[in-house]
Amino acid sequence: MTIYTGPVFEMAAKQFETIADYIEIPADERARLLYPKRAITVSCPIHRDDGSIAVFQGYRVQHHLTLGPTKGGTRFSLSVDMGEVAALAIWMSWKCALAGLPYGGAKGGITVDPSSLSPHELEALSRRYMQEMIPFVGPQIDVMAPDMGTNEQVMAWFMDTYSMYQGKTVTEIVTGKPVASGGTVGRREATGRGVVHLAMRAAERAGIAALGATAIVQGFGNVGSVAALELAERGVKVVGVSDHTACYYDPRGLDVPALVAYAAQHRVLAGFSTEALWDPATLLAQRCDILVPAAMERVIDAAMAARLQCRVLAEGANGPTTPDADRVLEQRPEITVIPDILCNAGGVVVSYFEWVQDLQQFFWEEDEVNRRLRQVLDKAFDRTFARVSRDKVGERTAAMAIGVERVRDAKRTRGLFP
Ligand code: NAD
Repeated sequence: MTIYTGPVFEMAAKQFETIADYIEIPADERARLLYPKRAITVSCPIHRDDGSIAVFQGYRVQHHLTLGPTKGGTRFSLSVDMGEVAALAIWMSWKCALAGLPYGGAKGGITVDPSSLSPHELEALSRRYMQEMIPFVGPQIDVMAPDMGTNEQVMAWFMDTYSMYQGKTVTEIVTGKPVASGGTVGRREATGRGVVHLAMRAAERAGIAALGATAIVQGFGNVGSVAALELAERGVKVVGVSDHTACYYDPRGLDVPALVAYAAQHRVLAGFSTEALWDPATLLAQRCDILVPAAMERVIDAAMAARLQCRVLAEGANGPTTPDADRVLEQRPEITVIPDILCNAGGVVVSYFEWVQDLQQFFWEEDEVNRRLRQVLDKAFDRTFARVSRDKVGERTAAMAIGVERVRDAKRTRGLFP
């Protein structure tokens, strides 16, 4: 399986081996659980605004089809390659299984810096990528969603392109769409909202009151900005935030609504203020109660794990903590880790609600969406921490084991065809 390479895939494979050892999966069952069922790569040509033709590489990995269609985000970033997409698809599988959703994991993306494209080029590339994927996706086969570098508008273009080829509107082909185009209320906020709901539950367990607690959020996109705002609304003092253009830290607390308004207008944090500018390399290591990495993978390595001064590590991003860092954190019981597959599951949970609503053409009120979101997350949280206590294992090991076991049980009962 040499097409899956690179540090992110190695990380997902290493994590899986740890779980497989812990729950004693026989050697000959492991490859079937770990390796993706399908991996698709496409070349996407577009006309640039100057009339020239540019070709971009696109990917989609569908990890397993055992529990239903696959489900997962689409990432537009220069880091995207087959290994990264495969790792993200694998994590989606464990995440969906932990939350009890009837999905396998998928992930896709294009190797591109979306900020280097004009609006017209971005639309052309989004539409061409979906068009190339039509033979491989479908509402009962593989359902896309947004991820880093994509948003509601990109999902609307995906849905429209797919629908044009079907000759009818098929809203259930993607989730994370604008509400006006068959999206659900509460989806845009769902991931950040879920992160904060679970961070509060972990804080409560650790005896930390929301009012007066402090937080740092890395990444100020969909997940990070909503998480920062939700934290502030609950009385938590947000003392540090960053994106790829700027980093601010002030122990007296930052004005989160003003930061959110600035980012909504300028799309970046750079230029917000000349005060409180901070070195991004040391932001995560500052003292706080709740630390939310919500940007990218592998930002907490073993050295950073040793320097953390938080009490709750709420992983908004996928894969922010390396396996070596996990070993360090297992020796630091004063830090409660809410692992990514649990912490950021709010996004896929409400994506599932969106898919269900689209299939039924029956739409819920936002309080219904939020109530059901909390219900699903609370159940996954309780099961994870019960397992931590029972087996004396780390939080990531517990959460992943529950996910892997569900997929494994389904594969076992379905058997191996033919
Ligand atoms: P986004 O594109 O909306 O935002 C990404 C943010 O990260 C931006 O603010 C960007 O400036 C920042 N960033 C990039 N590099 C950085 C760096 N070196 N230092 C600090 N900040 C940096 O993406 P998103 O949807 O918010 O996703 C963020 C993470 O959350 C990803 O790991 C993604 O896979 C994960 N996630 C997203 C969702 C979702 O619903 N959007 C769901 C689950 C998990």
